[in-house]
Amino acid sequence: MSLPQEARVVVIGGGIVGCSVAYHLTKRGWKDVLLLERKRLTSGTTWHAAGLVRGMLHTANLTRMAQYTLQLYRGLEAETGQATGLKQNGSISIATSPARWEEFRRVASFATAVGVEHEVIDARRVKQLWPMLNIDDVIGAIHYPNDGQTNPTDTCMALAKGARMGGARIVENVKVTGILTDKGRAVGVATDQGAVKADVVVNCAGMWGREVGRMAGVDVPLHPCEHFYVVTEPMEGAVPSLPVLRDMDSHAYWKEDAGKLLIGAFELKAKPWALNGIPEDFEFGELPEDFDHFQPILEKAMTRVPALQKVGIRKFFNGPESFTPDQRYLLGEAPNLDRFFVACGFNSIGIQSGGGAGKVLADWIVDGEPPFDLWDVDIRRMMPHQARTTYLRDRVSEALGLLYAMHWPHRQFETARDIRRSALHDRLAAAGAVFGEVAGFERANWYAKPGQQPAYAYAYGRQNWFQNAADECRAVRERVGLIDQSSFAKFLLEGPDAERLLQRISANDVGGPVGRAVYTQWLNDKGGIEADLTVTRLATDRYLVVTAAATAVRERTHLRRHLEEGERVAITDVSAGYAVLGLHGPRSRDLLAAVSGADLSNAAHPFGTMREIGIGSAPTLAIRISYVGELGWELYVPADHAVAAFDSIRGAGEAHGLAMVGMHAMDCLRIEKAYRHWGHDITDEDTPLQAGLGFAVAWEKPGGFVGREALLAQKKIGLDRRLVQFLLTDPEPVMYGGEPIFHGGALVGRTSSAAYGHTLGGCVALGYVTGEPLGGAYEIEVAKRRIPATASLRPLWDPSSARMKV
Ligand SMILES: Cc1cc2nc3c(=O)[nH]c(=O)nc-3n(C[C@H](O)[C@H](O)[C@H](O)COP(=O)(O)OP(=O)(O)OC[C@H]3O[C@@H](n4cnc5c(N)ncnc54)[C@H](O)[C@@H]3O)c2cc1C
Repeated sequence: MSLPQEARVVVIGGGIVGCSVAYHLTKRGWKDVLLLERKRLTSGTTWHAAGLVRGMLHTANLTRMAQYTLQLYRGLEAETGQATGLKQNGSISIATSPARWEEFRRVASFATAVGVEHEVIDARRVKQLWPMLNIDDVIGAIHYPNDGQTNPTDTCMALAKGARMGGARIVENVKVTGILTDKGRAVGVATDQGAVKADVVVNCAGMWGREVGRMAGVDVPLHPCEHFYVVTEPMEGAVPSLPVLRDMDSHAYWKEDAGKLLIGAFELKAKPWALNGIPEDFEFGELPEDFDHFQPILEKAMTRVPALQKVGIRKFFNGPESFTPDQRYLLGEAPNLDRFFVACGFNSIGIQSGGGAGKVLADWIVDGEPPFDLWDVDIRRMMPHQARTTYLRDRVSEALGLLYAMHWPHRQFETARDIRRSALHDRLAAAGAVFGEVAGFERANWYAKPGQQPAYAYAYGRQNWFQNAADECRAVRERVGLIDQSSFAKFLLEGPDAERLLQRISANDVGGPVGRAVYTQWLNDKGGIEADLTVTRLATDRYLVVTAAATAVRERTHLRRHLEEGERVAITDVSAGYAVLGLHGPRSRDLLAAVSGADLSNAAHPFGTMREIGIGSAPTLAIRISYVGELGWELYVPADHAVAAFDSIRGAGEAHGLAMVGMHAMDCLRIEKAYRHWGHDITDEDTPLQAGLGFAVAWEKPGGFVGREALLAQKKIGLDRRLVQFLLTDPEPVMYGGEPIFHGGALVGRTSSAAYGHTLGGCVALGYVTGEPLGGAYEIEVAKRRIPATASLRPLWDPSSARMKV
């Protein structure tokens, strides 16, 4: 087929993902779809995948997409006439350690919460389903009867055929060499055979995705790693009905493959590939064997299936696959280039994710917004440093193995650390800080006591920092705690139209006198919460916007996209310019007064206001606000003054019972006060009304705000679900979010986030429940055990917020 000069949308890449995007665009009625493939369809990664498809992943929305993928693949042959090879022979994941068994019981509860059919089975049942298996060390397993395997090439071809049937044109042997842009948006592609104009360009270039992104100045942080499997000689017992088997403790998966067994590896330390670029002629390519690398996996496999010792290996396969810094794929519109979409970096689950990812991306392209919360995979979560080769090389070597490693709560990456540090880092380390990383930023998660090893000992129950966090929480509730909150993203908005822009996008009223600090949400047209932040008026034409480190790129993009033609606002990222010292607790006023000499009384410095003070000699913006539900201040200190300010506070702190407090304790404190966390408790598919944040909506402010009409409509028809706070009545169990909530025995929701409430004396969670909340008894299921819980619409800690306003 010759190359057209124009198309409504150009999809780059003819693997499973590109074909799925093209297919789904045609389903949405876009006929003028052009897919360009540099070589032949499937010739990148898709052709050699093992083809495992599972219906459950570790978050609710990824699961929603995986479920859709299964449903799609089931019907593709009937629709297109092209067989896919899908068979739903089920899958089993076996546990051979007590920790993994606990993980699986929690996973099983999560499966209940998200409605995925599953069965917790014992070793005897495992043996019935997989007779060749040595079950000596098997404690138990989860069986997913609807999972299975498909033929990746045939499935991709069925999607390509379906796309063509819907009107799409697919042209092979055309390489995209550049992205055409105009005024901040993609307007087409350059190829080795001429240019094609387009309204939308979609990067589905798999492991070439980073390179294609670079053509447009868009960071697409992914890197290929070598990925291995072996296929045995034909074996007795390798029958088609054999379920897929995952033996995560041995880092291996198994599937039947035409009378043979295929054994694939997720080894702990992977081998990044193509550090100097992918060879130009790579097509249906294989990488050299590496038996030494695979040997430990094979040894364990021979113990797991002793019959393996008597058969030969017919095929050793090594192929590249792209991995991302956090093992989740990259989806959505590029933050810095409009109408340039990305669907890349599938971390070895591209076949099972391809259907769902293609569908939601097509919806996103056609509707101009994601169909539901896709933050898990949204490309806006990535930070600029994550696209650097040195960073990626280190991180992906760890990311691959983590797919089958223990999925410990609070597990921290070990590679590519110390990328971004607070100005106070060394001081915190000296105080015993144990760091965790968010958006590359090293944050003190908890403080080890003298003599205590400053390192995590992971567990599903109480981890080794439980008592540390308890003590830190007590310090904040009873005395005063110092939290380094420097990782906050901070934007300065300056100009005559700064107020206009912020008023238009904020649900709350952010106008008013200079010095006012306002908690607000930014909404989308459906009333969903795009951002949750504070806006402080520094001058009539100057605002400070403060948000979480993880959402910096997202918020920056939101601001840019809402700036109207001709509006005069300069937006500057000042995140690195300010350290933030959070001083919280009933004695925070006395301590801050001692180091600043400022009048911090309610009359001089009321709650929700900012004053300029000096901490010693350090010029400081003191904002009286709190995420922990106590009297307190966030102190914005220029980074070069931060150490001096910190030393002043700590020097004077002893007399006031000052304690260093980490992020884990902060999370415990905020959840007791039922403060929501964006990304968990509130997302772009939850409205302030559902989330119980109606108090932060300024309904009558002049000019209204984005999302107001949707909220008014929702108010009229009533709420289908509401966010409720829960406290387990049993003080022992620990929840981490995702647990199913039952009311009168019926499933009514799942927890969105959870942490231990040291003041309340039990684990606390937030979660949306359907129906009219609060009548009757609630139970939350933790690791297959249902535990009674108290439910409340008002915060269980200090419902009137009197403590913050003393
Ligand atoms: C050993 C192994 C086992 C696997 N097992 C499974 C499994 O069991 N289950 C599962 O779900 N996943 C599995 N995967 C992962 C899966 O194969 C991938 O996630 C998936 O194929 C990615 O599809 P894609 O469309 O993103 O990339 P690709 O299939 O690589 O497609 C990208 C295409 O873009 C083209 N392209 C690149 N640059 C350009 C350009 N400039 N112009 C035009 N075209 C371009 C390439 O030629 C390529 O064909 C496995 C991977 C490996 C390596």
